[in-house]
Amino acid sequence: MTAAIIDGKKASARLKEGVAAAVAELKAKHGLVPGLATVLVGEDPASQVYVASKQKTAHALGMNSVQHNLPADSTEADVLKLIRTLNADPSVHGILVQLPVPKHIDSFKVITTTSPAKDVDGLHPESAGRLVAGGDTLVACTPMGCVMLAKDVLGDLTGLHAVVVGRSNLVGKPVAHLLLNENCTVTIAHSRTKDLPAVCREADILVAAVGKREMIRGDWIKPGATVIDVGINRVPLPDGKNKLYGDVNFPEASEVAGFITPVPGGVGLMTVACLMVNTLKAACTQHGITDVAVPTRLPPKKP
Ligand code: NDP
Repeated sequence: MTAAIIDGKKASARLKEGVAAAVAELKAKHGLVPGLATVLVGEDPASQVYVASKQKTAHALGMNSVQHNLPADSTEADVLKLIRTLNADPSVHGILVQLPVPKHIDSFKVITTTSPAKDVDGLHPESAGRLVAGGDTLVACTPMGCVMLAKDVLGDLTGLHAVVVGRSNLVGKPVAHLLLNENCTVTIAHSRTKDLPAVCREADILVAAVGKREMIRGDWIKPGATVIDVGINRVPLPDGKNKLYGDVNFPEASEVAGFITPVPGGVGLMTVACLMVNTLKAACTQHGITDVAVPTRLPPKKP
């Protein structure tokens, strides 16, 4: 293997440490504790695990966090009413509605009803628009994590060619705009892209956000490239558990790449840490606080 592994566990631990320090500073200087409200509609087991981890992390970093569980048969009006109540609650700085919501609820309405100021998932069209316009905003968590990891290993990304495979509002588009803001030359590829392997071979930074197990092969990767694998593809095992695979064929890619994120243990772990960054940032912004440093990149490694 030639690639150095980007350890998402260690990286997210560093980021969480930085957030915890800033939360403590915020409390000491301003008596303010960031508050996160999570909303879970229904009982999807994977969503329950995700929300529990967000709650646990918020508490561990010194934030307030309240979980709201609504039954799966809640009406859209019930969900929107709860979001409006949380929008108006001054102790809540960030609102996260765990997606996907049950099919009878319009997720776009859920996203657009959330106050942009409290949109810690960074999915509101106003947040997305501000990102495109290059303005300060709450940025979608997984894309933020991808770029922090790339910057941590590469430093300045200026002039590098980034290829993002996937163009979803959740991952592909925001990660492409973040990389553009870092002065990368960015190509966005998708299911209609012609000769995808050749496009990927151009990448100094390759971000895979497709949702297709091990689709990206070793010979699609430029030697020495940095590979950020966002994909989470679950394959059921006989014991009822799941094995996770990325969108990149890891054994092949790690023979060619310079740096690579594993799945699991890579990008996924950064997502929750970046949600904490956003909750802290939302609290500071809502109170006009500028003398507490919200982490914008991974804190330096300790010697
Ligand atoms: P979507 O299904 O919304 O988007 C997938 C994208 O991949 C689309 O733009 C699609 O193109 C493109 N695509 C599909 N098939 C191909 C193909 N054969 N060749 C090229 N492009 C293709 O997925 P998400 O963006 O929401 O998620 C992507 C992956 O990331 C998933 O595995 C998901 O589980 C994972 N994920 C991980 C997170 C984490 O915390 N690590 C968080 C969020 C997502 P088109 O637009 O043309 O259809």
